Amino acid sequence: MEAKFCLTCGSALEKRNMDGTVRMACTACSFVHWGNYSVGVGALVVKEEKILLVRRAQEPGKGYWTNPGGYIEQHELIEETIQREVLEEAGVEAVIKSVVAVRDQPRSIHNVYIAFSMDYVSGDPIPDGVEVDAAGFFSIEEMATMNVAGFTKWLVHIALQPHTSEGLTPDKYPIVPLDGYGLFRAN
Ligand SMILES: [Zn+2]
Repeated sequence: MEAKFCLTCGSALEKRNMDGTVRMACTACSFVHWGNYSVGVGALVVKEEKILLVRRAQEPGKGYWTNPGGYIEQHELIEETIQREVLEEAGVEAVIKSVVAVRDQPRSIHNVYIAFSMDYVSGDPIPDGVEVDAAGFFSIEEMATMNVAGFTKWLVHIALQPHTSEGLTPDKYPIVPLDGYGLFRAN
């Protein structure tokens, strides 16, 4: 679906060639509709070789076990988003260890999903009762007889395999001051 009206001033948009790509641009102000994008974040919380899973109580994916996660917010660091989602959905406190996978999905809404390996801190898994109706830590063997979503199986496999490097880890002390950014770096 194509945008027809300006999000800023409500005037009509027109097709305009921007550096070789036709985009919808406002006829009255400087607004340009660059596209539809969303960023998802997912948590692989590891506790004694088991992974935290939740069972989806709503569509899409109702009845499937997945890793906790959600969509990023406008003014929130992704590190805070993923910690909040894990706490809200499953009642578990966890901290980011590293980025273990990225999924790119260029559709009508271009979605990028960033998966984090996280260390368990505290809390017994309790479902929020709204988005999810069950939560717990499960081993690969236990997951074999569960209705685990395919994408979650892929992520769990990556999170539990022995890693030759740490992946991208949070950089709390960058070599130059870079205030206000969430930074992750190779090691
Ligand atoms: Zn406008």
